[in-house]
Amino acid sequence: MKKNIPYGRQVIDAADRAAVDKVLRSDWLTQGPSVAAFEAAVARACGARHAVACSNGTTALHLACLAAGLGPGDEAVVPPITFAATANAVAYCGARPVFADVKADTLTLDPAAFKAALTRKTKAVLPVHFAGLPADMAEIGAFAREKGLIVIEDAAHALGASYGRKKIGACEHSDMAILSFHPVKHIATGEGGMVLTNSDELAGRLRLFRSHGITRDPALLEKKDEGGWYYEMRELGFNYRIPDILCALGLSQLKKLPRFLARRRALAKAYRKAFASLDGVTLQHLPPGREHAWHLFTIQVPAARRRALYDFLHARGILANVHYIPVHTLPYYQRAGWKGARFPRAEAYYAGALSLPMHAGLTDEDQRRVIAAVREGLSA
Ligand SMILES: *Cc1c(COP(=O)(O)O)cnc(C)c1O
Repeated sequence: MKKNIPYGRQVIDAADRAAVDKVLRSDWLTQGPSVAAFEAAVARACGARHAVACSNGTTALHLACLAAGLGPGDEAVVPPITFAATANAVAYCGARPVFADVKADTLTLDPAAFKAALTRKTKAVLPVHFAGLPADMAEIGAFAREKGLIVIEDAAHALGASYGRKKIGACEHSDMAILSFHPVKHIATGEGGMVLTNSDELAGRLRLFRSHGITRDPALLEKKDEGGWYYEMRELGFNYRIPDILCALGLSQLKKLPRFLARRRALAKAYRKAFASLDGVTLQHLPPGREHAWHLFTIQVPAARRRALYDFLHARGILANVHYIPVHTLPYYQRAGWKGARFPRAEAYYAGALSLPMHAGLTDEDQRRVIAAVREGLSA
């Protein structure tokens, strides 16, 4: 019996284990120096002024929406082809996620659909760099600026991607960008996330909301002279902190990001070569001027064959997956007013979508097995 090939997974080595062990022997399991060190390293790697680490990518999205001031009566535009968390974070604030379709070829938010979704209530937009391909940030960012909207990039797939001359996370065309360090993402902390921004004010609000809305910063206190123990709770914040144990793992993982990205890019190149002229397979379009980070390798096959191909691959231990069930079709969002709403390009993509194994630990031999099985499954 051959081993299963997951669609994604972490790569952990002895240096990672040693970094965690070192924190476990230190004075600080949480709220210690590894958090700031990890934040500084990711900010540097992405080219952002500030990085605020938190407990996962979902809480990063929630913090970004809170810092943006989203609340009841507000709307934020979200593409339907994403993980539910992108829309959920808007809803956590009492605001309404408003879906706008993706482009059929890149599978990222269609700027025209975003513009058409605008109402007087729109306060923010959350483009998603689907699979690791940056969305149309210049156009989305310029329109958002013109209308006074806040742009939050869901960059959970895109650590290491670039748009033009800047890295994703540099927030060149946005206010904030969020990352996830879930084990299937580029670098793993188990659970973990981060918000990047160039705004001092947003960074301050992100830090405040991350830790109960409580501050000890003398500049922010209403009562200046209460004593050394004194703090104030200024907002209804949360405990969304990430422990030092995980930040040490993240720091160690980040050192390997260039290697992880190179491997993902080599695998993507080999997949694209193998499938370029294979009947029944459509590949994501790659516009010039953007560097893909290849969190996922997605293909589209004829809708009538997708289920059979998925089952065929799973029967052979190839654990292909589907990203994503369009968020507006999930029962919660159907009940929340999206019954009958149609996003034809998102729905057409989903009908034939399949994510093939893509991670830095995937061997050439595993990849050959995947490619051969896709060929066989499609011709069966
Ligand atoms: C993984 C992911 C998230 C959420 O990240 P978690 O760390 O799992 O909470 C959000 N958005 C997208 C697009 C993701 O892929």
